[in-house]
Amino acid sequence: MIKLEGSQLAARIKQDVQSAIEQMVKSRGVRPGLAAVRVGNDPASEVYVRNKIRACEEVGIYSEQHALPESTSTAELLELIASLNTRDDVDGILTQLPLPPQIDETAIIEAIDPAKDVDGFHPMNVGRLALGRPVFVPCTPAGIIELLEDNGVEIRGTNACVVGRSQIVGRPMAQLLLQRDATVTICHSRTRDLAAVTRTADLLVVAIGRAGFIGRDHIKPGATVIDVGMNRVSDPEEVRELFGNDAEKRLEVLAKRGSTLVGDVHPAQAVEVAGKLTPVPGGVGLLTVAMLMKNTLKAATLRRQ
Ligand code: NAP
Repeated sequence: MIKLEGSQLAARIKQDVQSAIEQMVKSRGVRPGLAAVRVGNDPASEVYVRNKIRACEEVGIYSEQHALPESTSTAELLELIASLNTRDDVDGILTQLPLPPQIDETAIIEAIDPAKDVDGFHPMNVGRLALGRPVFVPCTPAGIIELLEDNGVEIRGTNACVVGRSQIVGRPMAQLLLQRDATVTICHSRTRDLAAVTRTADLLVVAIGRAGFIGRDHIKPGATVIDVGMNRVSDPEEVRELFGNDAEKRLEVLAKRGSTLVGDVHPAQAVEVAGKLTPVPGGVGLLTVAMLMKNTLKAATLRRQ
């Protein structure tokens, strides 16, 4: 079984972005800018935004974080988005999801200038992707394609199965695989006999948000399995069941931090059958942030040409 690690590729992508930015600053005096908007005190969102800001610092993107209180209204957030839309020094705008329940998430996503929509969630960018003329592609599926291509995994003509149909991962992932000539099946919570469907896949992408749900019976022997899930597990018994002989290290993490990060794919079972597998952590997650940097550079290049 080959581990498809994301760290080296993510570092390479960020390095390329950094070089391009240095060039942009030197030749035109222009530095790309990213505004990250976060509402409320969701600890996971705080970590995600912090990582994105840190990556901006690494590659030389100007960044600013707007942390708004939990009680923020849709109108207040729309006002901030409108002001960021008009700012010349802001090339990319991202609103960390999920937003508190009183906020109309659709209205916010649709208010972002499509030319600054570095997350690729605006209907204009979703439509362009569906038409096969993408501009900004959501970062996680875009990163997965880079990982597959970098590792020479064949996509054309293969049976690809995407489990999960979210706007952020599953749907754009399916579009990207279809554009690369895979025969794509999309599964979700209403799919009948999920394992029978996923077992036909040469390439299986899982994004459902359930720790270790995809087991040996779901995987075709030798398949490439991409695990997008990021779930926190804090029960030592569950950790032992998921990691088998490799549980010790995870139990140490759990003792230190109170939980450990687990994907949607059962790690101990998947290694028995998969040909290639992304680890969690250390796989897809690292690429997501790298692709955000790439999208921000692209936004700056397109806006300022
Ligand atoms: P989401 O919006 O909650 O969507 C989950 C999808 O999984 C839905 O389409 C749902 O089906 C489907 N699903 C749920 N239970 C299922 C089951 N038992 N069998 C088949 N399908 C099932 O999730 P998301 O935002 O795509 O995120 C999925 C996971 O990826 C989460 O763990 C998240 O933390 C992680 N994630 C990681 C990254 C990264 O950078 N690594 C980025 C984004 C997300 P229905 O549509 O029928 O409800």
